[in-house]
Amino acid sequence: MSRYYWAGCLLCALSAPVSSLISPSAIKSTRAHDVRTLFSAAPSVEPTTNTDKCIPPEEEQNHYDAVVVGGGPAGLLSAIMLAQKLPPLSSLSSSAKRVVVYDRLDPPPPPDNLVYSTDVSKYYLLGIGHRGQNALKYFDVWKDVEKASVAVLGRRDWAPGKMKEEDARITMSNKEVTSRVLARDKLVGVLKQVIETRYKDVIELKYGYQVDPISFGNEDVRSDGEEAGPPVQLQVSQCTPLSSDGDTGECSIENNQPSKVTTQFLIGADGAARGIANAMESSDEEYRKQRNIFQRLFGKSKQLPFRVTRYDDDNQRVYKSIPIKFPDHWAHDLNYSARSVNSRGTFEALPSDANGNYCALLLLRPDDVLASANCDPKVLREYFDLQFPQFSKLLGDDVMEDVAKKGASTLPSFRFAGPRHHEGKRTVILGDCVHTVKPYFGLGANTALEDVKILSQIIESIPDLEKNIDQAPLEFTKQRAADSRALVKISRGMDRPGKIGTMRFVLPLILDSMFNKFMPKVFGPSMFGMFQKQEVTFTQIQKKKRLDRLMQSVVIATILSSIGIGFGYSTKVLAKALGMSCTVVRGSLAAAMFAAGFARSKLSKKESN
Ligand SMILES: Cc1cc2nc3c(=O)[nH]c(=O)nc-3n(C[C@H](O)[C@H](O)[C@H](O)COP(=O)(O)OP(=O)(O)OC[C@H]3O[C@@H](n4cnc5c(N)ncnc54)[C@H](O)[C@@H]3O)c2cc1C
Repeated sequence: MSRYYWAGCLLCALSAPVSSLISPSAIKSTRAHDVRTLFSAAPSVEPTTNTDKCIPPEEEQNHYDAVVVGGGPAGLLSAIMLAQKLPPLSSLSSSAKRVVVYDRLDPPPPPDNLVYSTDVSKYYLLGIGHRGQNALKYFDVWKDVEKASVAVLGRRDWAPGKMKEEDARITMSNKEVTSRVLARDKLVGVLKQVIETRYKDVIELKYGYQVDPISFGNEDVRSDGEEAGPPVQLQVSQCTPLSSDGDTGECSIENNQPSKVTTQFLIGADGAARGIANAMESSDEEYRKQRNIFQRLFGKSKQLPFRVTRYDDDNQRVYKSIPIKFPDHWAHDLNYSARSVNSRGTFEALPSDANGNYCALLLLRPDDVLASANCDPKVLREYFDLQFPQFSKLLGDDVMEDVAKKGASTLPSFRFAGPRHHEGKRTVILGDCVHTVKPYFGLGANTALEDVKILSQIIESIPDLEKNIDQAPLEFTKQRAADSRALVKISRGMDRPGKIGTMRFVLPLILDSMFNKFMPKVFGPSMFGMFQKQEVTFTQIQKKKRLDRLMQSVVIATILSSIGIGFGYSTKVLAKALGMSCTVVRGSLAAAMFAAGFARSKLSKKESN
């Protein structure tokens, strides 16, 4: 038994209420970065114990077997998973409900709420592909989600400069699993409904509460210690959304008396706010500061520093959502997309229902005048008439005015929290808070749901789970962290600006489709094709693409050097036949080729004028 056990019991019994541990000035705003301040401002709670006996009676009602922070897709599916797979861990959970989910915003409207059909651009849409569907099936909730979603069978795309209705190219998708689309909030509404109908005895849903960690229960025990430490301690504050519709994703906890909640198992699923991961980062920094270099390198607790990698967003885009109704002669199960000639804007529309009601996103650079709130609707209309006339004619003036009026929303930036996805033996982080990617490849929610399935499989494989649940966090890191990292790296590599973008996205796409066409058994499909393959992890995709790139370079280098050798040999023969030096012959041929290229480019410019 840990030597901290008894000291822990004592301190636990003496521990002050959380409101006195944390200065009120630290609890004003709730932006993610403030959570770090809050965490480091709070004096760390001394080790207590790893048993339930040390939870003082007055706090018993605030102890749960498991706490989930964040009621998004990952958080709610995690709660369902825990209700299905986690046996009661402690007799001290006086509340029958063993699992609690906190979300700082208001609950989402239920899936049958009219808002999803009357205000289709209020919530952005998610495409759920094989990853997400497999995870939802695993927990027997797919049928509920399927009912609330619509199928997308392919894409109708207008290349830049092509604007007539008939100019579009339709590509039917040949995926093994048909993607289904629904609003992010509708998905969350479905999961909430499942919880309320099937798991209401086990799971408590608490909206309007922000959670900030006080301690992770691994003080001095650290993640490679032999025992789990005292329970995780959390500060829970009532929180009022800053905007009436929760659009900003932020809330205010001013003038609130926070309460303390303890748990044996914490799942951080708080999305891009990543308060839990930020607190883990602060905790790790503190811990390292207290250790000398030898302890850090060779000590019992040696491990790589935990940090949130915040990639610079050098290809920023913002978006405005637009409701659009497509007429009956347009298919209602396609994704419509178009890009403007000067790559100023991109238009992407996904179906909200099967009747032609779509929610489109107009993606722009943040400094674009059209991205600002209250831009001129006439200017917006002119832009649509010029670049997207096929859609402009379907948008009424009232829609143009609404879109012009609203400010643009930002896309999340690439982030990776690691190398661990756990803290100590009681905390796991998953979903967007560990791997945030831009939504271009439809992987964010899908991977977040897949995280939950992987954590579940780990939990199921642990013998004597009631006693050994503390094995799950480290195992989750082992099974998932490399993949999360690969997901963020691959996605970021495909979203670079200018020439780097061409080198890292366009060129590989062309090479992959050429090589895969000629030698499909040797070369894999493009990244998009790889993402669609089932049972292939992101790490495997990364490795396969590296190998493909190497083999492609070898093939190209071989072809080029053969051409070079052939050219050298032919010029030698030609020079001999003409009685000239090789240098003169090669120089003349190069000049002739240059002149031909120049003439061709002039000719094509004239034609396009
Ligand atoms: C425009 C757009 C389109 C997208 N399209 C797709 C797509 O087609 N396919 C796809 O797979 N993904 C898509 N995504 C990404 C997808 O939305 C996210 O990956 C997904 O929502 C992540 O789920 P999550 O549960 O991890 O986090 P979130 O959905 O962000 O949920 C986190 C929750 O935690 C709550 N929270 C945060 N901090 C706290 C706290 N301290 N205390 C209490 N609660 C807290 C928040 O209120 C929030 O409800 C898209 C994203 C955008 C912006």
